[in-house]
Amino acid sequence: MTTDFAATRAIFDLPEGVIYLDGNSLGPMPRAAAARVAHAVTEEWGKLLIRGWNAAGWMEMPARVGDRIARLVGAEPGSVVMGDTLSIKVYQALASALEMNPSRKVILSDTGNFPSDLYMADGLVRTLGEGYALRTVAPEEVEAAIGPDVAVLMLTEVDYRTGRKHDMAKLIAKAHAAGALVVWDLAHSAGAIPVHLARDGADFAVGCSYKYLNSGPGGPAFIYVAPRHQAVARPALSGWLGHEAPFAFDLDYRPGHGVERMRVGTPPILQLAALDAALDIWDGVEMEDLRAASLALQDRFIAGVEDACPDLVLATPRDHAMRGSQVSFRHAEGYAIMQALIHEGVIGDFRAPDILRFGFTPLYIGAAEVDRAVEILSRIMATRGWDRPEFKARARVT
Ligand SMILES: *Cc1c(COP(=O)(O)O)cnc(C)c1O
Repeated sequence: MTTDFAATRAIFDLPEGVIYLDGNSLGPMPRAAAARVAHAVTEEWGKLLIRGWNAAGWMEMPARVGDRIARLVGAEPGSVVMGDTLSIKVYQALASALEMNPSRKVILSDTGNFPSDLYMADGLVRTLGEGYALRTVAPEEVEAAIGPDVAVLMLTEVDYRTGRKHDMAKLIAKAHAAGALVVWDLAHSAGAIPVHLARDGADFAVGCSYKYLNSGPGGPAFIYVAPRHQAVARPALSGWLGHEAPFAFDLDYRPGHGVERMRVGTPPILQLAALDAALDIWDGVEMEDLRAASLALQDRFIAGVEDACPDLVLATPRDHAMRGSQVSFRHAEGYAIMQALIHEGVIGDFRAPDILRFGFTPLYIGAAEVDRAVEILSRIMATRGWDRPEFKARARVT
């Protein structure tokens, strides 16, 4: 292993006494991000004003930062661009892919997909009308359901609730053989596990930056379009910054060059500044090292919890090849148990109806934190420490 995880830990500013197992939902703050955002506010926005678009390189940021993410997901240079939220990017990728396969009308997805992805697909299908349909099957049934009427297979690689991982290379090959295009959502993959978009022949991919890439709340999403599709993929959301020449102010839309046509409107410069600083972390990290360390932490946690907490039922596959970077357990009182854990400084989260979710990020979590988290969880379970009214009152965000 060549990655120095003691060094990566020092990059983050985590509060004293907190064991943070929720980097899969919101990555913690890298110290450099705070300094970089302060610089972008006072020196760039404050002093350059409108000149910042040229002088500080703001206009190039979505593509420049996208290239840095491309490296982390095995994508070709010039194939990733930043902007908007993930839900918007799902819509864009799906709309382009559907249009590229005009003789078919079915979007195939699975019931483990994140609801927003399914909602966006449903909204697109309603707008298109004309027999378009969204079909969902159980995650285990996806492969068998790839039939001759499927236009686009739309999947999230790692299930947000259970951590179950699809076999990307196999499903792409199967879909292509059946004449379908594939849109991958990498929300729980980018920065968490090795991804090989180019090697595996992906068509479109999207993902967020505020989870494992640590860009902060509301950080922009990314979209990947395979180089072979870039000249034909028509952006359904045709905004001025995706135009070939935005500052010609033509009344007619002409898609821009390459993946930049997927830009829509003004990019979030302050969030991109935070992300740009956060991406420096990866300069010293080997993705294969990260994967091995993450699996070791997960296995340690699973063994500890199963040994001490027989009431918690593992929801994550045991097979390494079939999981991402999180471990989930089921319990009918999962919400209250998670609140009790958070009260004691172990931060994970809860996903309805009964999932306790723990993300393992070796960049700042080690074996000592895992052992301490198991110890605290064991005590809460043994003493029913969760059985208090204040732990049962549901907050707006779970
Ligand atoms: C986190 C997540 C989202 C969130 O989308 P936003 O538009 O950024 O709020 C969408 N899809 C998946 C699979 C996610 O995990």
